[in-house]
Amino acid sequence: MTQMTKNIKPASKQSVYLSVVIPVYNEEECLETMYKRLTAVLDKIDKPSEIVFTNDGSSDKSSEILKDFHKRRPHQIRVIEFNGNFGQHMAIMAAFERTRGEVVINLDADLQNPPEEIPRFLEKFEAGYDYVGSIRDNRKDSYILRSLPSKFMNKLRGKVTDIHITDQGCMMRSYSRRIVDLITQCDEASTFITALGYRFATNPTELVIRHDAREEGDSKYDAYRLIRVTFDLFTGFSMAPLHVFTLFGFLVSALSGLLVAYMIGRRLIIGPEAEGLFTLFAILLFLVSVAITGIGIVGEYVGRIYEVVRKRPRFLIKEVLDTQPLIKTDTKKIIQRKAK
Ligand code: UDP
Ligand code: MG
Repeated sequence: MTQMTKNIKPASKQSVYLSVVIPVYNEEECLETMYKRLTAVLDKIDKPSEIVFTNDGSSDKSSEILKDFHKRRPHQIRVIEFNGNFGQHMAIMAAFERTRGEVVINLDADLQNPPEEIPRFLEKFEAGYDYVGSIRDNRKDSYILRSLPSKFMNKLRGKVTDIHITDQGCMMRSYSRRIVDLITQCDEASTFITALGYRFATNPTELVIRHDAREEGDSKYDAYRLIRVTFDLFTGFSMAPLHVFTLFGFLVSALSGLLVAYMIGRRLIIGPEAEGLFTLFAILLFLVSVAITGIGIVGEYVGRIYEVVRKRPRFLIKEVLDTQPLIKTDTKKIIQRKAK
């Protein structure tokens, strides 16, 4: 669990209506415009709101810029400084732990999801939806490298998990206080926030929202990171990869058994044969690669179990800029609330 944060929750939670949570990793070029557009939206909403930033180990000037935001609006803006890069989902998790709002909206720092869409999420929340997902309209990312693989993964995830969200990668979503409390009570070291939120929702819905191209900076996700978070999603919410693999193993064993019986028959009837060496190689190569894949799939689960068993903090907080005191929460109360 987090350093220092277990069982600690902010005081006077209910006095805030809306919390906006923003993970930041090397976004110095985007932050000022984002601040202006977001605060303009929040000022118009005219209900108590707050913004919680997590600086996820940025090496550029993001940290100083966020500190300046806190100085400008000390009672509205809170900043969590991570001691290293722990990933977008952990950055959101840490921010969730420090939110006070009745409704919490997660936003990216790069303005690809416009803050001007926030009121539409609030309308849905007011209409009784405790989880409002989002679908990127006319997605402005590379088609071959991002949109197409994402479409495929959304389809696959829909089949192998019971998470029915259309666009898993779009992080701009709203969650009720109850869902956020449940999410922060999960001690998962690798998780996928949008799916976890959906799992706890009682009345989920979705909105189609605008998607803009990244104006400044580059995506923080290279192919390797994308694959890693996708594995987090699949291993965290489904055992299907293991089941499919086992079933496939049964099928291959049955076919191999038939092949062996056929070969024995040939050996007895025709006698020894030396041909078919390359066919044999091909079959062997296929079976070896299947076995390696299987070890990999099992390894993905085992590695995540190992992370949890080690019980190291899943992220480290260096500093929190917050004007309000933190109070200890009675864990029993949260567990009772969870049971409801
Ligand atoms: N981000 C983060 N930690 C990371 C990677 C990304 O906090 O290790 C933040 C990033 O600053 C941005 C959001 O997560 O606010 C989404 O990242 P990005 O825009 O690069 O992802 P993409 O839109 O390309 O999927
Ligand atoms: Mg982006």
